[in-house]
Amino acid sequence: ENLDKGLEKSKTSFFDKMSKAVAGKSKVDDEVLDDLEDVLVSSDVGVATTIKIINRIEDRVARDKYLGTDELNKILREEIAALLSETSSGEYSELDIPADKRPYVIMVVGVNGVGKTTTIGKLAHQFKKQGKKVVLGAADTFRAAAIDQLQIWADRTDVPIIKQKMGSDPASVAFETIKHAVQMDADVVLIDTAGRLHNKVNLMKELSKVKRVMQKTVADAPHEVLLVLDGSTGQNAFEQAKQFTAATEVTSLAVTKLDGTAKGGVVIGISDQFKIPVKYIGVGEGVEDLQVFNKFEFVDSFFK
Ligand code: GDP
Repeated sequence: ENLDKGLEKSKTSFFDKMSKAVAGKSKVDDEVLDDLEDVLVSSDVGVATTIKIINRIEDRVARDKYLGTDELNKILREEIAALLSETSSGEYSELDIPADKRPYVIMVVGVNGVGKTTTIGKLAHQFKKQGKKVVLGAADTFRAAAIDQLQIWADRTDVPIIKQKMGSDPASVAFETIKHAVQMDADVVLIDTAGRLHNKVNLMKELSKVKRVMQKTVADAPHEVLLVLDGSTGQNAFEQAKQFTAATEVTSLAVTKLDGTAKGGVVIGISDQFKIPVKYIGVGEGVEDLQVFNKFEFVDSFFK
């Protein structure tokens, strides 16, 4: 019974919590704003972004003198969409692969367990469906399981993979992968990297070495550094974003495990705090369960 309650609680949506906060109130006053603040923080929007949103709503209350709670949803949606627009201008924020950058090199970073390998597999599948030639590089050489997992995805999506034995130099794997991609005239390269965060200096060194050797063959590689974050982990995802953005230049985000969680608020907070666009969201374990991020659809789902 307790477990049921726990699950129910963790699945209480932002919209449910919002509805509770404004129940029986007709106008937005300090108490409603306080409750709204709690709802945003408990939905993992993060304190700084929550304060920003609350301030904007306070400004509107001050300007219009009166704001009915029936209008609050609409205004919140507008404010959240506006925040997301600061990093993703279009409706869809797919990674587009320019034809003149061939191969287009995407280095994928993130902590173990967040869904990095799965996201690489799903992306390989999407790119292949678009008729692109894809190569995978297993440069997370620290764990045998990581190499095996990527091999499984390579088989599943029928995409070539370059790998070496566990413990070999990640930079060497990256170098071989790029070389192979050039030889086979590939469109896209997806490089998996080690997700150890226990030592920031090592992480930084390793990622910059991987970059350096790739640039021997493709001068402007990597074209993208995609950080994968687990959307169900709230504050941990913020912390990881902080560490990885300090260690390397992250250009885009994929937020996984947004199926079965009411905690999608990380998407809002992280794209706002780090000014990096969310490009993909993971909504399951299957090969098709990766969606191109659409800010309007996201805001809609947040308010359901
Ligand atoms: P990695 O260590 O970061 O490479 O993580 P994996 O790709 O191996 O994923 C870890 C676990 O999370 C696996 O069981 C995946 O099936 C699961 N996973 C990955 N993405 C998603 C997602 O979007 N939704 C759900 N529900 N599970 C996911």
